[in-house]
Amino acid sequence: MAKLDYYDVLGVERNASQDEIKSAYRKRAFEFHPDRNQDDPDAESKFKEAAEAYEVLGKAEKRQTYDHFGHEGMSGNGFSGFSSNEDIFGSFSDIFGEVFGFSSRGRGGANRPRAGSDLRYNLDISFREAAKGAEVEIQIPVEISCPTCDGSGSAPGTEPVTCSQCGGSGTMQQAQGFFRISVTCPQCRGVGQTIIDPCSECMGRGSVITDKELNVRIPAGVDNNSRLRLRGEGEGGINGGPPGDLYVVIRVEPDDTFARQGQNLILGREISFVEAALGHRLEVPTLDDPVKLDIPKGTQSGEVFRLRGLGLPHLGSAHEGDLLIEIKVKTPTRLNSRQEELLEEFANIEASKLTTKAKDFFKKAKDKVMGE
Ligand SMILES: [Zn+2]
Ligand SMILES: [Zn+2]
Repeated sequence: MAKLDYYDVLGVERNASQDEIKSAYRKRAFEFHPDRNQDDPDAESKFKEAAEAYEVLGKAEKRQTYDHFGHEGMSGNGFSGFSSNEDIFGSFSDIFGEVFGFSSRGRGGANRPRAGSDLRYNLDISFREAAKGAEVEIQIPVEISCPTCDGSGSAPGTEPVTCSQCGGSGTMQQAQGFFRISVTCPQCRGVGQTIIDPCSECMGRGSVITDKELNVRIPAGVDNNSRLRLRGEGEGGINGGPPGDLYVVIRVEPDDTFARQGQNLILGREISFVEAALGHRLEVPTLDDPVKLDIPKGTQSGEVFRLRGLGLPHLGSAHEGDLLIEIKVKTPTRLNSRQEELLEEFANIEASKLTTKAKDFFKKAKDKVMGE
């Protein structure tokens, strides 16, 4: 069978942006996910097709190869299509990064209780929110029982009929050599009934997706990729199984003022060479009110001053990081004639100090020789 063009599979133009490709794939993956299409035997192959197309088009490098060489270009090059269901579902859950995780477990035994999948939610927060902690409201899609059909999947006023293949038992006997084994009915997938007139809201699935609001308490001191686990807020369980968990993965936006190194804050400050030489009292910002920092006489460029406890709190402890201030000494670029005069005088004094030192040195050297 000839392979379909990957762009056609995802229904996007050849010049589609990576974002368009991603969203087209998400739409298809969602639409054809086998867990949601138990009555449509074609769904799984469409789902696989879409996953394979996205595996290539979703990655700029592979997409380029595909654009140039078509399907031929995809053999070798480390690409071998999907070898098993595992791979497809693995790549699927990566792509659904923001929110959906679907069950990637085997789907045998339709009526057995199954735990809901864990979900992942990427949350961007500001630097200050990370430093001080915050409470953020997020919306996550959840699957709820369809309100139109009360979860039955049948249009209101209609009833599902007994499955014609298994007679309502949900299982079928199959001969296997001398044995007869019982397998899940492929037509009703073990439910024992077939929906003849599907509910128009949920398309016979019995469930719909809706947004749920959740308050997430962000502890002070979180960093990039900190994961918060919200127990039981994942996908609902099936057939009485427990719900999964929701993982909120934190991304912290960088700050204009402070850089971060672990729980320490880092701040760069410039002072003039005069301030460096004579000493200076500097006002430095902190996460709260600004504080005064005394720069001693003779401070060198690159010196780092440490204000203890003014960094970020360590998660789950009272201990806090430090604020590190790195000093840069600025050399003036424009001087008026009076300033130049003063600096020249300064230079002369430095030179005569040196000469005096040199004289001392030679005198000592001489005394030493004479003394021998
Ligand atoms: Zn419904
Ligand atoms: Zn059946």
